[in-house]
Amino acid sequence: MGTYLIIGGIVFLLYALGMKTTVWTELGSVHNIGLLNERQNYVIISSLMILIGVILNITALNKAKKITRIPSDNATEDFEAKKCIFCGEIIKSVAKVCRYCGKDQPSENIEAIMDIDPEPAPSNNYAVKIEVLDDPKKIYLIAKEFYKDVGVSFVKAKEFLSTGTTVNFQDKSEALKFIEKYQGMGCKVYMVT
Ligand SMILES: [Zn+2]
Repeated sequence: MGTYLIIGGIVFLLYALGMKTTVWTELGSVHNIGLLNERQNYVIISSLMILIGVILNITALNKAKKITRIPSDNATEDFEAKKCIFCGEIIKSVAKVCRYCGKDQPSENIEAIMDIDPEPAPSNNYAVKIEVLDDPKKIYLIAKEFYKDVGVSFVKAKEFLSTGTTVNFQDKSEALKFIEKYQGMGCKVYMVT
């Protein structure tokens, strides 16, 4: 709509400016007051058309901007940040892919179904201490296995692995299997009791 007004206004303005305002009299070619006034009116009207067209276009543009802004506004409402485990940039906690390095993010919606006892276990259990070197990439890879094996969330698994934790086993052979597996992944893992 605004654009049509601008185009119409320009055409009208050009027509008005090109209008003949002279008439032939016995004195020769002279300006006719009536035609001059008419041209002036046309110039004013066409200028107004252009002006209104520009205003309409700007309003439409602002409206379009508002519409495109709504989703991002909503997104920031439930914005929860986390750090990308690969590049360390802050990204949305719901992000499946890092916006900086493009790497897939591990899903973190697995609820903890079992707690790890941070204290050494009672003597009738088999407690295994596990520690990971301070290497975020390594912790990530090991946590991918660890959270499944131990039954905690991925976030918790990473936390436990970076600080070191004790995992309790009822069964000695299970404890030994665990040690073997995580030793193979480069962890410092050993039986406490
Ligand atoms: Zn990243």
